[in-house]
Amino acid sequence: MAILISIYSFILGLVLGSFYNVVGLRVPEGQSVISPPSHCPSCGRRLTIPDLIPVFSYVFLRGRCRTCHQRISPVYPVVEASTGILFLFCFLHASSISEIIAGWLLVSLLMIVLVTDLTRMLIPDKIVLFFSILFFVFRVISPLHPWWDSLLGTAAGFSLLAVIAIVSRGGMGGGDVKLFAVMGLFVGTKVILLGFFLSAFYGAIFGIIGLLTGLIGRRQPVPFVPFIVFGMMTAFFFGNEIIGVYINLLF
Ligand SMILES: [Zn+2]
Repeated sequence: MAILISIYSFILGLVLGSFYNVVGLRVPEGQSVISPPSHCPSCGRRLTIPDLIPVFSYVFLRGRCRTCHQRISPVYPVVEASTGILFLFCFLHASSISEIIAGWLLVSLLMIVLVTDLTRMLIPDKIVLFFSILFFVFRVISPLHPWWDSLLGTAAGFSLLAVIAIVSRGGMGGGDVKLFAVMGLFVGTKVILLGFFLSAFYGAIFGIIGLLTGLIGRRQPVPFVPFIVFGMMTAFFFGNEIIGVYINLLF
């Protein structure tokens, strides 16, 4: 049974990941996420079933459109595969149904803003607002312990990022501030603070390696959301273990 649900979680993630690509590409343009149906951005051909199977279509088509042979962005299969893997991980790691759904919701928000950040370097207000309502309703039904940790988490995420946005003078944008405020409501103080520090830590390591190897230029802006995904997922799944180890080291 567990194996069946594992497979189901993975496939659900792949399919939703495919939808999150559409959401992430269309919402910043002010387009509907339902119509028109998916089409090739270069030649406009409407995509059919063989083009629409998550990850596999990209691999079989060798990353090119069947009609015009224009390159398909690797963001599509990366987001599909990541959503599938993270959905499966949520199922395997969570201890209750509520925790599985919470994990899936958090992954969903992160994957959509990953698409918008990778393709346009922005985090749309509409997406953050939509998830703030979803997260609020979820936390009314299934509150954190204690429930006011949602308030504290929002305040912590907002104020920490706002201070950094002011100090860094544009290094961190308003989108990041709102994103962390909304995630703080959902995951509480401990996870949001740890999540931010891990995101910054992963980003710094990537930056140092990138500069040393010449992969990225000194003034080149790097999207931050990929590191937020890793940071938040580590904090969400392993927060208690990490904080436990840290406290043991201190005392
Ligand atoms: Zn095409």
